[in-house]
This record gives sequence, structure tokens and C-alpha cells, in this order.
Amino acid sequence: MSSKPINVEEIKKELIAKMPTKVARKRAKAIVPGAGGGEEIPEIQANVRTIPGIITQRGCTYAGCKGVVLGPSRDIVNLTHGPIGCGFYSWLTRRNETDAGPDGDNFIPYCFSTDMTEHDIVFGGMKKLSAAIQEAYDNFHPKAISVFSTCPVGLIGDDIHAVARQMQEKLGITVFANSCEGYRGVSQSAGHHIANNQIMKHIIGTNDTPVEGKYKINILGEYNIGGDAFEIERILEKCGITLISTFSGNSTVESFRRAHFADLNTVMCHRSLNYVAEMMETKFGIPWIKVNFIGAHATAKSLRRIATYFEDQDLIDKVEQVIAEEMPAIEATIKDIRPRTEGKTAMMFVGGSRAHHYQELFGELGMKVLCAGYEFAHRDDYEGRHVLPKIKVDADSRNIEELEVEKDATRYNPRKTPEQLEALKAKGVEVKDYDGMIGQMSKDALIIDDISQYETEKIIEIMKPDIFCAGIKEKYIIQKMGMPMKQLHNYDIGGPYAGFVGAVNWYRDIDRMVNSKIWALTKAPWQMEGPELEASYVAE
Ligand code: SF4
Repeated sequence: MSSKPINVEEIKKELIAKMPTKVARKRAKAIVPGAGGGEEIPEIQANVRTIPGIITQRGCTYAGCKGVVLGPSRDIVNLTHGPIGCGFYSWLTRRNETDAGPDGDNFIPYCFSTDMTEHDIVFGGMKKLSAAIQEAYDNFHPKAISVFSTCPVGLIGDDIHAVARQMQEKLGITVFANSCEGYRGVSQSAGHHIANNQIMKHIIGTNDTPVEGKYKINILGEYNIGGDAFEIERILEKCGITLISTFSGNSTVESFRRAHFADLNTVMCHRSLNYVAEMMETKFGIPWIKVNFIGAHATAKSLRRIATYFEDQDLIDKVEQVIAEEMPAIEATIKDIRPRTEGKTAMMFVGGSRAHHYQELFGELGMKVLCAGYEFAHRDDYEGRHVLPKIKVDADSRNIEELEVEKDATRYNPRKTPEQLEALKAKGVEVKDYDGMIGQMSKDALIIDDISQYETEKIIEIMKPDIFCAGIKEKYIIQKMGMPMKQLHNYDIGGPYAGFVGAVNWYRDIDRMVNSKIWALTKAPWQMEGPELEASYVAE
């Protein structure tokens, strides 16, 4: 990258210069500079429909509901009601890992689909859905079955909830349905909300067998990609913190059922699981705090926040001891690697919180993030939670059910008094709060929401980062541009990257990628000298 100062306004102009006027006007609202130096946080356009014709990297509502939130739950049969085209993606393509546990129930590697055909579209697919639920039950005897509707199902109007109710009665297990047709929201974010609602309605709090433990928490929004949750579990166990349930990496339906025994909800991916955190607070009185286990220092900070919340000196001391034990390996690796990564640059376009979380890890390597954005975020993910009252609810958001949750008549138990929460705030532990990404990026960085394929190629051409992080859709195009590309949806073959062990893995992988010479050698056929193709007959 050149060392001349970055003029973000000029870059923004160049980025949208070739677009039709109306499109450029709309896209300009989704591109803002960072405000890390204490500047006023600008408003960004987010969670609005992608302009038709633009190649977005977003997923559909069904992908968010099935693929992200419920898919990684190992002992729920997650059944896609739809044609096999959607069903292909019901086989998890992310690397959600799980421990099959003593019961051995692990349905994650399976792809359950009703495989709807033209006949079902014309005559209705409800009978086929009942038969598929029965078949799944007969073969696997799961504790719960969850059904997901796809676009065609919404269009023909199959009543999946009625089928789920009938089958629940017949089989005597939990069966519930998600109206998560792909078109229902502007992105996968709508699917997260729908899944949160159904988990809350049908599972959380359905088993009142108490959970033992002095410091009981849940983690919301951690999906165990490449084993991240395993590393977080290791650290929490070392600290003596009881993790009841993770939503939904390495999870079981039983852990969801007893999640209401936690005294604190910790939220990793705020975007995908905030709805459950809010509803559990209203119903059971469990406060929630934002945590981030991506980055060694971020992990240490999150552990300290949890310990401060519990106001117990034994836990505070134990957490400090664990951090002191883990940090030497981090410091030694950074000392070795940082001279090779210092000053290198990155771009990240992924998720609804990942592009923010991973900036900690790049910072630990002395690298700067030039440009970042999300695929399915809302304004608060960029600007911070304080902006929520200013966000207008549009028709697309109204399309998603808002559950009316009330205090549970017998189980509501506020874990902290308002005075205790105020005292915690004074100690830097604020409940129900999080910063946005804009406030933590420097003013010579750009934030772009729902970046298009064209903008991706253009921004790389202009800013020339040393590494680009995104998903599979962008991967090969970026690599063909001669640039290392790290997938942050599924980590390629790497990970875990969470916690202390994960941070070391990350430092090593990024060192290898940004210092590899191979990318400079890649050339498109038309950039090479000589004929593009040579051949000769070996026999007449
Ligand atoms: S957009 Fe609709 S048709 Fe496409 S994968 Fe999603 S649910 Fe299926």
C-alpha cells in the first residue's frame, strides 16, 4: 500500500462514480468514514433492500434461520420444507463443530429436506411434510424437530405450524415451525429474529430441573466455527464459570430448556441473538452484557467483565490467574510474528458483528483495517446501541413477528437491583449496551454496508490491502486478483480463532497469508506473455 494519506471522500466518489445517478445516491448513504478519533458518528444506511441488479453477498431469511441460528444445534432435526435447491443449503456448509456427547445424537452432518416437486407446489405439501417428520422421527428418535419454510412454501401457503402442532401431539416430542421464507426479510438477519422467537416460544424454560454452579452464564451468538466454542468452554471451565448453554454452537436442546437458570447472559454476536437476550431479561430477570472472545486482549477483558458482574473476589482472582497463565504464549507469538505483520493492511466484509470483533486480532498484529462492513447488520451494529430509538421501523421489519413477552408469574427473578446495575456501570460493566463499529475505526477508514461485487473489486483496486476477509462468494474472485483471501464465515480449514489458543492460531495463519509470495505470481491468462493455450496432436 502507498504511504500517502488516505482521502476517504475521494475514494467514496471514485467508488460510486460509474453508477447511474439514482443508484449512486442510494449507495452513498451506505458508505461512511470511521469516527475513531472522537468525531461525531455519522448515520449509515443499513438493513434496507439491496438495489435490484446489484450483486449482493447477503443470504436469505431461511439461511439466517436454518443455517445460522438453529442449524448448529446437534440434537434437533432441522427439516427444510422446500425444493432440494434450498435443501442443499440445509446441509451446513459452515464448519460448525460439535461434541456428540454421551448420547451420540448429532444430526448436523445430515441434510433433512421434504424435496418438494412441481406436484407438491400445485397440490400442496402439507401431507409430504407430515410424512417427512414421521420418517425423521422413526429413523432418528430426536428430542425435537424444527421445520423451516422456503420461498415456494410461503407462496403456496402450506400451514407448517398446523402440521408441527399435529405431529407434536402425535409423537410426544417438541415439534415447531419457522415461517422463514427466503423473501421475508431484506437479508438473513430476519431469519435470526424468527429463529430467536421460536426458540423462546417452544424451548427456553421448558425444563425446571435446577442447574448446579456458582457463576452460571449462557453465551448467545457463538456458533462454534472451527471449534471456537470449545476454546471458550475451556477457558470458562478453567475460571470456574458454569456455562449452561451456548446459542447455538456445540449445544443441545436440553441446555436450551434450562438456560433460564443462568444469572447472566453474555452476548457475542449481538446481531443474531439479541432478541433472545432481551426476551430472557423480560421473562426471567436475567441481565445481559456484551462480550467478545475474539482477540487475546478482548478475551481477557470479557472475562474480567463477567467476574466484575458476579462481584465475587474468588472469581475475580481466579480470572486474573487464568489470564496470567494464558498471556505468555500470546506475548511470545506476537513478539515473533509482529515484525513481519506490522503496518500491513486488511479489509473485512462479513456478518453482523464479525467484521468488528476481528479488528482486535488485526490490532494485536499491528495491522490496520482500511475498510470494513457487514452483510446483514442494522444501524446499531455500526453506530452503537444508543441509536435504536432513532431507527424507523419499516415495512420489511414489520414483516417479522415481535413476540409479546411478559414477566414469568413464578420464575421471574431479577438477578440485580437497579442500584447494583448502576454500581456495575460505574465499574465499566454496562448491561444492555454495545458500541458500534464506526466509533472504533479511524477517520481515514471506510465503512461500507452490504458491499456489492463491483464495489469489492473497485475498493481493492483503489486501496490495495494486504489481505481481504469475507465469505465463499467473494473468495475466488479476490484470489484471482492476486490477493490473499481469508474466509471469516467458516475459516477455510483454520481455527479456532476465539480465546487465547485461537488468537495464536490466527497470528500464525495471517502471518503465513500476508507474507506469502504466491499471490504476486497469479496472473490472468490475458496478463501473461505468449499464447494463452498451446497444443499439438500426438497422433494423426
Ligand atoms: S431465497 Fe428462497 S428459494 Fe432461495 S434458498 Fe432462500 S428460501 Fe430457497
